[in-house]
Amino acid sequence: MRTYFIAGNWKMHKTASEAVALASELVKELKDGPHKYMIAPSFTALDAVSKVVKGTNILLGAQNMSTDESGAHTGEVSVLQLKDLGVQVVILGHSERRHTYKEDDAMINRKVKLALSHGLEVILCVGELLEEREAGKAEKVCEDQTRLGLAGVSAADLKKITIAYEPVWAIGTGKTATPEDADAIHAFIRKIIADMYGKAAADEIVIQYGGSMKAENAQALLAKENIDGGLIGGAALKADTFKPIALCK
Ligand code: PEP
Repeated sequence: MRTYFIAGNWKMHKTASEAVALASELVKELKDGPHKYMIAPSFTALDAVSKVVKGTNILLGAQNMSTDESGAHTGEVSVLQLKDLGVQVVILGHSERRHTYKEDDAMINRKVKLALSHGLEVILCVGELLEEREAGKAEKVCEDQTRLGLAGVSAADLKKITIAYEPVWAIGTGKTATPEDADAIHAFIRKIIADMYGKAAADEIVIQYGGSMKAENAQALLAKENIDGGLIGGAALKADTFKPIALCK
């Protein structure tokens, strides 16, 4: 059986007490789960959820972090502050950060390198807009975001990187890429990693799919050779909808 990396991105949902309730349920439900798990609550719930998942098989993730370690950056959260709360993984380059908050590849790359330098694992999100897909540019967009996001990352540090392929048109829309279309882009990203780091690294890297993954489509997506897990938004907000994905065989 393959081991997948199943991660939940809770976005700007849940108060601290609601987040603790869901995390507590997941700790119970997934304690014998066969896969690697992560949940990423809002910054405001990290401290409380950290206490719930400590010592369990669920990693604590953050949804973003600053490009800087400390300083005059009103409203930002630093890698040191995340580490202090027990955060182990950080999601970087999510499409909502790229497109709503205008984070560019250079900024995302700074964050990636800073997170790695402090020993955090990184989920680097890449993915094309609908108009880019329709213009036949999906591969080019994913290639650029992968190469620029990983610029200057050593082969040793690549082991701490997961790539999440998230076609922007499939996020929160209910539209999922077909397993075949998703697998084709995953295979293409693996080829880029092989070009950058060699075949062994490309075979090893975990590439998650994200974009309206749910119980009904997870099995078919995860059955594909190049899909090694999922980054899940909407369906991660309830134990009842996250658990069937998290326990997929
Ligand atoms: C996401 O935000 O990373 C995501 C994939 O969301 P959803 O599952 O809701 O499409």
